[in-house]
Amino acid sequence: MKINTKRLQQHFESMSEIGKIGETGTCRPAHTDTEKKAFTIAAGWMKDAGMKTRIDNFGNLIGRLEGKDSTLPVLMMGSHLDSQPYGGRFDGVAGVLCAIEAVTTLKENGIVPNRSIEIISFADEEGWRFNKGLFGSRGILGKLEDGELSRKDKDGITREQALKDFGCDITRFKDSEYAAGSIYCFLELHIEQGPVLDIANKPIGIVTGISGPLWLTVKLKGVAGHTGSVPMPLRKDALLGAAEIIVAVNEIASQIPGDPTVGTVATINVFPASRNIIAEEVEFTIDLRDIDLDRRHRYEKQLIDKINAITEKRGLTYSIKEDTNSEPRYCADWIKNIIKDNCIKLSLDAPELMSGPFHDSLALSYACDYGMIFIRCKDGISHNPMEYSSYEDLALGTEILYGTVLDILDKK
Ligand SMILES: [Zn+2]
Repeated sequence: MKINTKRLQQHFESMSEIGKIGETGTCRPAHTDTEKKAFTIAAGWMKDAGMKTRIDNFGNLIGRLEGKDSTLPVLMMGSHLDSQPYGGRFDGVAGVLCAIEAVTTLKENGIVPNRSIEIISFADEEGWRFNKGLFGSRGILGKLEDGELSRKDKDGITREQALKDFGCDITRFKDSEYAAGSIYCFLELHIEQGPVLDIANKPIGIVTGISGPLWLTVKLKGVAGHTGSVPMPLRKDALLGAAEIIVAVNEIASQIPGDPTVGTVATINVFPASRNIIAEEVEFTIDLRDIDLDRRHRYEKQLIDKINAITEKRGLTYSIKEDTNSEPRYCADWIKNIIKDNCIKLSLDAPELMSGPFHDSLALSYACDYGMIFIRCKDGISHNPMEYSSYEDLALGTEILYGTVLDILDKK
């Protein structure tokens, strides 16, 4: 190992003290004093690695290692140090601390890169405080939407106020944006947040892309009636229709065993929700994700056909509202190949897998090529204090990240 495993572990242990809840949990909301404390210690490690640090007007922490030719587009790495309110020690943190370790190792080996390297801890990746995530990573690319600053947290504090309190100048967002073409590529190491690597007993995965979610809200309308008197064949039961559609979502998403498609219904509202009235109206959400957009479109079509057939059979009417329709974003082949070469060098068989959850990489994918390294996490648990990745796996991932950085720097 060229990286320093012990130092890496110490950094994780120190970071886990900031916003600690219970034995192993973390609560580090975006744009707060707690996050500022995390930034302060991370900035200290960045400085040790020879980087200059700053906090920009979106509340991102940025460390920059000057390259020989500072006019070249930067090699950017990072993730986030904010956490879920009842979160773990590794989500986001891994991408920042492992990147710092990689740059520290560069410095210790006397390597001055040709292009500058930046590590960013993006502000508010998680999105729960103001109900909108990827704030910092969209911010630097000029992709904030109208009304984002007036969103309020549960205490009534607006994003605008939180940013001001954090020391950001919201009138100067432009100064913190990155010009088109100024980022050469983006690398993010992240815990998998799913069980695939753990089940396969592989410490490292190479991400192929981030799947695009299709979010629908379906409303079914039937006829209310007395549950004691309306004979079964005469019913127009909206909940019964919903039940069949929910089963259909599951069947459609799992029709080809081993495919990465996932489909979920996780919320449902029933009207009038009385135990002795047949349900008149039911509203539920569908979340359908796939890395293959054609296949997702095909499955969506199957689903609509199914909804038509089921509602016709049950005498129901329906409407569908599309809430989100994102396309999958693929990792660059050339970066995947470099990561794979570095896995082979360490005799690691690293499977390729897609990411169901989104990450800051999703925002960056619209600005530059990107690559992601996944680290196995125990039982796939994340967004939970039980979240766990071993320091051995994190060190392996960091070694691969370091090798990947060297190979990318060698390219030109
Ligand atoms: Zn994350």
